[in-house]
This record gives sequence, C-alpha cells and structure tokens, in this order.
Amino acid sequence: TPPTNDGGTNDSGTNGTRANGSELVRFDKVTKRFGGTTVLDRLDFSVSTGKHVTLIGPSGSGKTTILRLLMTLVRPDEGTIRVDGDYLTHEERGGQLVKAGDRHVREVRKKIGMVFQHFNLFPNMKVLRNVTEAPVHVLGLDKDEAEQRGRELIELVGLTEQLDKYPSQLSGGQQQRVAIARALAMRPQVLLLDEVTSALDPELVAGVLDVLRDIATTTDITMLVVTHEMNFARDISDAVLMFDQGRIVESGSPDKMFSDPEHDRTREFLSTVL
Ligand code: ADP
Repeated sequence: TPPTNDGGTNDSGTNGTRANGSELVRFDKVTKRFGGTTVLDRLDFSVSTGKHVTLIGPSGSGKTTILRLLMTLVRPDEGTIRVDGDYLTHEERGGQLVKAGDRHVREVRKKIGMVFQHFNLFPNMKVLRNVTEAPVHVLGLDKDEAEQRGRELIELVGLTEQLDKYPSQLSGGQQQRVAIARALAMRPQVLLLDEVTSALDPELVAGVLDVLRDIATTTDITMLVVTHEMNFARDISDAVLMFDQGRIVESGSPDKMFSDPEHDRTREFLSTVL
C-alpha cells in the first residue's frame, strides 16, 4: 500500500529551509523482518532538527537495525522513512509514491553520516586524506577547500599532531576520532553513532566520548545514538528511547528515563548497565 502524506503537509520545502522544530528523521509504521522474525514492529518515531536522541535497550531489540535502515544497508518490509522531509524509502514518479530507486536513495542518504563500531578507515591513506577523500570524490569539493575543512575537523577531534600518520600508527581511540571527523566532513544533517566505543580498550573510551560531547554541544548537528555508555547518554541526550523486541516501550528525557523510569523492562535493563 502506498504511504499517505500525513495531514496534507507539503514536504518539498524550499532551498533547504524547513519549518522550525521540524522532524529531521521520521519513521512511520516501519516493519523489518529477518526470515520469520519481526525485528521492528510498525515503528513510529521522529527526531527533531538539532536534537540528540539515544536508543537504549537489550541486545537484539532492534536498535542497530534502525541505523542500518537509515544508511539503507537494509530496506524496510513496510512503512516509510523520511529524512529532512524527503522519503528515503520512496520517491515520487508521475504523482505517485513508489519504492525508491538507487539513485534517489543515494541522494537522500547524503544527508546522513554514520560512525560504526569498527572504524573502517582507509588503511593506505594518511589521516588528512581519510577525511578529505569523500568530500573531494563524492561531493566534488575543491581539494584545497576539502583540506582546509579537513584540518579544522581534525583539530576538532584533537588529532592535529597526527595529520600525517597512517591509521595503523594510531590507537583505536584516535582511529575512531578520525572516523568521526570523516563522517562530519560530508556535512551530514544527521550523525548516526552505533556503539562507537564498544570496540575500544577501556582507557580509550573517555577520549572519544569527550570529543562527541564537544560536538554535541558546539555544533547544531542532529544525532541518533546507540550506546551502552549511560552517563554519556545522560549528558548529551534530549530524549531517550527504550527498545524491547522491536518496539519502543518507553521514551522521555534522560533525567526521567534514568532516575524514574515507568516500565519494569526499562528498570530491569538499566539495572544491568548502570
Ligand atoms: P540491537 O542493535 O538492539 O542489538 P539489532 O538491530 O542488531 O539489535 O538486531 C535485532 C534482531 O535482528 C536480532 O535478533 C538480530 O539477530 C536480528 N538481525 C539483525 N540483522 C540481521 C540480519 N542481517 N539477518 C538476520 N537477522 C538479523
């Protein structure tokens, strides 16, 4: 069934100007199944522009699948996903919404940046080139401009001294900070962070979280975060969504969620991670 355009809202926008407090990410009745298992069950949620939303919940509850849907690494079985008013899952052809083609998906996905658990840097490129490669080759940015911006981002993640090193010469924490700079270099409107510290040695975690706190407070980028670092979640989140078995069981401000959760499932989960 084709999705309906809710409430007659015109999503097309003009020159990137959107209504204040607009929804940058919106899932409508998104269902994802793997084999016979329903991993996400008619999921509705949205993230407003500039907000930081954290997804928490037990392993297997569907959190990573949400980020992978946004990166179009997987496609939903049902429902629609919109980013900045544009459908990621669908496109308009002859006045009708049809399943999005690859080209349309590539365009909408440019609005999204992601940092993975395993940083996946280009091993044969130095730090600066890791950050400038995609802006030059995908966005078509002028090389000097990309380098200037790259240096700024590398400074933001505290790696100016490492500019000329290869990934193998860096610690895991430093590599992850390069991955953060690389994602930001594409000027995404929303940054997805998937367990970005869980592959790091414990002593390297704080440095990466400090950089992310800094980005959360000094930039206006929208963030969608999956993490088991509850103190970090509490610090940076505007809202926390608690998942269980592919559904949101509870959502609210970090203070409410961490100090006074409503649901047994949330209390149970928090008692295992706090
Ligand atoms: P979380 O991030 O909350 O740990 P995931 O979104 O990774 O949860 O996974 C949700 C469920 O979907 C799990 O049961 C997982 O095994 C299953 N799953 C995820 N990706 C795939 C896949 N590509 N094929 C089959 N099952 C998958």
